[in-house]
Amino acid sequence: MQITPLWQKFKQLGLLDRQAITLTDARDKLIAQIKAQQTAIANRKNLLEHMVSEHKKISHEVGLKEADINAVVTKLTAKEHRLEEAQSPKEELAIEHEITALKKICHGLEDVCLEQMAQLETLNRFMSQDAPAALEECKQEQAALAAIELELEAINVTIASNRGEQEIVINTITPEWFKKYQSMKSNIPDPITPVVQSSCGSCFYEVLAQDLVRLKLNAILPCRSCFRLLYCDTEKQV
Ligand SMILES: [Zn+2]
Repeated sequence: MQITPLWQKFKQLGLLDRQAITLTDARDKLIAQIKAQQTAIANRKNLLEHMVSEHKKISHEVGLKEADINAVVTKLTAKEHRLEEAQSPKEELAIEHEITALKKICHGLEDVCLEQMAQLETLNRFMSQDAPAALEECKQEQAALAAIELELEAINVTIASNRGEQEIVINTITPEWFKKYQSMKSNIPDPITPVVQSSCGSCFYEVLAQDLVRLKLNAILPCRSCFRLLYCDTEKQV
């Protein structure tokens, strides 16, 4: 049976580590996108709900004001009839005062009513033009959200399989090497790096000649500068 040199296992672990970093970065970006999308959808829904309830409220208030105006107009008509039948100038004057007061109330109500009707018109325009478009955008945003959620699911599957692959490799190295790898990994996400052109592949510190000799003989050595575990890919020119 051919024994796989330790450096090859470390090379594989290093590649898996780097793959894991890329995958978790991508996953974090997707999670951020999902949050942003959820906020956008919630804001749009809140705005729509607010406009719908405003529309309902103002419609109701306009109805009430119109009823109030009608009631005052009825009273006014009655007073005007009474004015025609007034028995004395004194009574006439009193009724005229009442009529003036009622007209003032009526004008006040009409002013408020007109303002509310203008608001209602704006809301009606929103309901007929903007609301359907906003609903459509909401639908599209939800579809986009579902797509990102699917991407996240897929990436989580890949992350799990990457971990599985790591475990398989880890099971083939001795507990001592695993401990070294583990303690490095607690400080650095990519604790393994190859020797590239006689230097550390991560921090580019030049490997000492005697270390290079040992590395070329399949040893694993810590970089003297960044302490990552160095291996020499003897199948490649280094
Ligand atoms: Zn280094």
